[in-house]
Formats: sequence, C-alpha cells, structure tokens
Amino acid sequence: MSESVITVSELTRRFGAKTALASVSLSVSRGAVYGLVGENGAGKTTLIKHILGLLRAQSGSVRVFGLDPVADPVGVLSRIGYLSEERDLPGWMRVDELLRYSRAFYPKWDDAYAEELLHAFALDASAMIGDLSKGEKARVGLLIALAYRPELLVLDEPSTGLDPVVRRDILDAIVRTIADEGRTVLFSSHLLDEVERVADHVTMISHGRIVLSAPLAAIRESHRVGDRVPTLDEIFVAHVGMSAAPPPDA
Ligand code: ATP
Repeated sequence: MSESVITVSELTRRFGAKTALASVSLSVSRGAVYGLVGENGAGKTTLIKHILGLLRAQSGSVRVFGLDPVADPVGVLSRIGYLSEERDLPGWMRVDELLRYSRAFYPKWDDAYAEELLHAFALDASAMIGDLSKGEKARVGLLIALAYRPELLVLDEPSTGLDPVVRRDILDAIVRTIADEGRTVLFSSHLLDEVERVADHVTMISHGRIVLSAPLAAIRESHRVGDRVPTLDEIFVAHVGMSAAPPPDA
C-alpha cells in the first residue's frame, strides 16, 4: 500500500502573472483511490496535466511510476487511463470505430470488458460520436480509459454529464473494483458526496495550494465535534471558506 505511484514535489506553475500551482507536493500510493477537490480554477486540471506530462514542471518535479512523464511519455501514458474534462473525442467516428481505433494502441485492451461496459453504459456501438449527448460522450470516454485495464486511472471531473444512476451505481463500482485489484485511481470532483463515497484519501486544493491532504478516515476523525462528524462539504467550507457546489453545467 505504501508504494508511491505518483510523486509530486514542490511543483509550481505560473501562467503569466497567475500562479496556478504553488509548491504542491503529493504522494499517491498504489491501490488507493485519491479524490482531488477544489473550487473552480483551484488548479486541479493543471496538476493532472503535469501528471500526464502534458505540461512541463516550471519548478519542482513530477514522477509517475518513478518516471518523468515529460521525458518518457510512452513509458508513462501506456500505463495510464485518462478521462479528460473536455471529453475530446472525434465526432466523425462511430462508437465501434473509435473502440477499434483505441484498442490498436493498447496490447492489454480487454474486448470482453469493453463489451460489458458498452452494455452497462447503454451505448449504441453504431452511433456517431458527434451525435451523442454530453453524458453519452462521457461514458464513451470512460469506457476507453477503462478497457485496457490501466495501472493508474486518472479521471478529471468524471461525473460531469453523467446522470445520478450511472454516477452512483456504475462509476462508484468501477472505482472500487479498480482499487480492490491493486490499481490506483486519481480523480478530481466538485461533488464532495461522491468523493466521500469512494475516496480513501482526499486532497483539497484551493488557489493552487494544498490546504488539506490525508486519508478520509483521518480527516473525518480530526474534524469530529463530540458525536458529530461533519460532511466533507462542511470541512471543505471550513478550510476554504466557500461552498464546493458544482458549477451550473456540471
Ligand atoms: P475547474 O474545476 O474549473 O476545471 P481547475 O481546478 O481544474 O478548475 P485549472 O484548470 O487547473 O483549475 O486552472 C487553474 C488556474 O490556472 C485558473 O485560474 C486558470 O484560469 C489558469 N490556467 C489554466 N490553464 C491555463 C492556461 N493554459 N493559460 C492561462 N491560464 C491558465
């Protein structure tokens, strides 16, 4: 449990005058589910992009599986399943064409699991991606991130566009199964009740700084007042001073 899959050390990132990440350090253990929470613009996606090697550290360092994701993108990305916040999928392909295209990149692609997820997500394999709803696109993105059973699954706001049933029943079950199989999940979310349901470890980020990072059980225990354990939302508000409610389009 203690083996670190992701190690971020004193990572700072500026965009012009804006500091998106200020000396962020984070260690993600194998087999754990890490929930990354923070308000809009807190720095969650920027942190995830560094972990994927899409952004280069300006100062500090990022290691994934002990490798530098910028210097060794193939070594790192071939072991990560990633669902981006934008769900950037080719609208001109059919769902089954995209699955065939994607499986070509991953020797460990699991056809039976892809088929299972296609049914679980109620997706029509012959539908054009461009015609799908936001939620259906989110499901296709999630299916592709999962179907080659990556060692590390990185999900940026996975619930955006998913209806509550899919979110609760399917997403939660998938995330727990991945962790039970010894693989690791890092996901960002505005939905603190969702993070509370599935995460082992919670990292709260605000204005580019980590304000709290600990196992969920320890966070709950340290904020207990008598018999009452506050919700994660209440704890977040206490630390950051605003509600972590989802934006209107989430
Ligand atoms: P959200 O929940 O709204 O997606 P987030 O926590 O993922 O927010 P980031 O997307 O990481 O936040 O953005 C952090 C800050 O950095 C924001 O103020 C954003 O405007 C800024 N930022 C991010 N990427 C860029 C960029 N390429 N150029 C300029 N500023 C950027």
